[in-house]
Amino acid sequence: MSRQNHYDAGVWHIIIECDMVMNTGEKMKKYAYGIDIGGTAIKLGLFETSGSLLSSWEIPTRKEGNGSCILHDIMKSLNLSMKENNLSSSDVEGIGMGIPGPVGKDGTVYKCVNLGWDVFNIEEEMHQLSGMRVKAANDANVAALGEMWQGGGRGYEDIVMVTLGTGVGSGIIINGQIVNGINGAAGEIGHILVDSDEKEVCGCGKKGCLEQYTSARGIVRIARRYLHDYPTVKSSLRDIDNFTSKDIFEQYDKGDIVSQVIVDTACETLGRAMATISCVLNPEVFVIGGGMSKAGQVLIEKIAYYYKKYAFHATEDTAFHLATLGNNAGIYGAVKLLL
Ligand code: ZN
Repeated sequence: MSRQNHYDAGVWHIIIECDMVMNTGEKMKKYAYGIDIGGTAIKLGLFETSGSLLSSWEIPTRKEGNGSCILHDIMKSLNLSMKENNLSSSDVEGIGMGIPGPVGKDGTVYKCVNLGWDVFNIEEEMHQLSGMRVKAANDANVAALGEMWQGGGRGYEDIVMVTLGTGVGSGIIINGQIVNGINGAAGEIGHILVDSDEKEVCGCGKKGCLEQYTSARGIVRIARRYLHDYPTVKSSLRDIDNFTSKDIFEQYDKGDIVSQVIVDTACETLGRAMATISCVLNPEVFVIGGGMSKAGQVLIEKIAYYYKKYAFHATEDTAFHLATLGNNAGIYGAVKLLL
């Protein structure tokens, strides 16, 4: 709200202008910051609350002292950005944050092992530091919200975003709202049990989890196991030292039979798990993101094929889209938390 005074015909006139009024009667400010805290870098973005990303940048995640520098480093970076852009806190709607760990509805972080954080209320602490409104949620949920707002899930209100990276995660949005669960663990689909005979241990301590077969690390593990179990089968993967999931997809494209079996098996395992998820949530769309989604349309079509094979009839037609915001999904979704 801006206020202008002028003197006319012996009377002071006060003109009050409102540019954007929310339903609550409160004015939506023009700018907002979205922050995505990762284990090695923190991504920050300055947005217009209408949805445009004006600038984004990264700072390193300093984990010393149990991550006690992190919020101060963020504040330093935000203060610098506000100075550079001539903004004061009265121009900024607030700060949205994606956190790599479980976050309760009131902003309580329930430990972030990879940042060294214990239990504390991050919304209150950031508000103390910034004087601005702060909203925080789990990073996978926040990325899903970002894709729903401005990415591959745009136009939908019931979406499950599946992230295929080092692990397998997901963010669930139903009726436009994040599904968090009582401990913030809703959407931990990477730890759905898919093989109770598995002997190797998952990162979570249990055995036979989805991400042991379908994450970037998981498909490399399965490929190595296959090559070991079938030593006479020829494969171009045998010529690549320490091959990665990217190598497997490249050899898949070049026609390597073993790579085709590995990719096909991973897509079948994912499609089957997603058919199970649909029996519970019945989303309109699955949005597939994460590093492995760079394999693109081939991956989506294969997963969708197996999904349809296993899905309950009423959920067969769920759409499959690629995520479009890449590493920016988190900062978009963080801002959407505020709106
Ligand atoms: Zn697990």
